[in-house]
Amino acid sequence: MADHVYRLAEIVGTSPNGVDDAIRNAVARQPDTPEHRLARDERRSSRSSARRSCRSCARRACDTDAVANSRLDERVVRAAEAAVAEQGYVSAIDVLGGLGWLTASHVDRWRQGRVDCLEEMIQAGAGKQAAALRTLHTWATEQSLTPTETQYVARTRDRRPLRFSVSAEPDTERAYRTHWVSPDLSTRKAERLRADANRPPDLVVVAPLHEWTCADCGATSDDLLLMEDDAPHCLRCVQLDHLVFLPAGDATRTRRAHRASNLTAIVVRFSRTRKRYERRGLLVEPDALDRESTTDRMQSGDLDG
Ligand SMILES: [Zn+2]
Repeated sequence: MADHVYRLAEIVGTSPNGVDDAIRNAVARQPDTPEHRLARDERRSSRSSARRSCRSCARRACDTDAVANSRLDERVVRAAEAAVAEQGYVSAIDVLGGLGWLTASHVDRWRQGRVDCLEEMIQAGAGKQAAALRTLHTWATEQSLTPTETQYVARTRDRRPLRFSVSAEPDTERAYRTHWVSPDLSTRKAERLRADANRPPDLVVVAPLHEWTCADCGATSDDLLLMEDDAPHCLRCVQLDHLVFLPAGDATRTRRAHRASNLTAIVVRFSRTRKRYERRGLLVEPDALDRESTTDRMQSGDLDG
């Protein structure tokens, strides 16, 4: 998958949600993260909603409950179809985003482990949420999409599993966790999607502009820091100091090292001139670089077995 950092930087430039959101946007690198998709869907729906008229009364911006309810199934299917066309599968988060009930920044707060469950962030009543999930399940089954359970873990060092529903009932949790994969994908493509979807989200490390003080050990430095619980921590205190820095620039090498490393952190730095966080590189495990370069040489034929 290509490294789309420049395209994503546009999102950062227009983010109205402050610094934290800007950092997350700067690092939403893989095209199939929920945050990335939702940001894109929001831009799309804000364009199309300007033209949309109510089908019942032909008035613009008519959104009475009656109209919304009668059209809910249809909207769920449309959102699901769009997601499958775009990425080869659809998740509950895609549909909720497509319905306009969930924003990228809401999903992001949840992925950072800052809210108890995703449903707290959904802008719709429990009845509507449940109806939308049922419609997705029915439609996807009819379309012979393949249900694939996906891990969702927090973007924190402990990688704790994320909770979706207020009730935490196993069936509801499973409905949220399930990705419905298009039967038209090749086995290889489907396998790649599955691996990417199950990959824990990257940690984010900041290259600071000023000196700062570690919240754990009290040391002052201008070295890399990790924000956690709204405070800066030095990499030694958060046990990330064994990682090595791979500067941005070589997309292929970055992608391979990223895949080979079990633990990764994206390094960002605030650009004063551009007024946004920009990606500077990746921290990876030292042996990921070795594994990555071995793959490299084997592919160029320098190694014989
Ligand atoms: Zn420290």
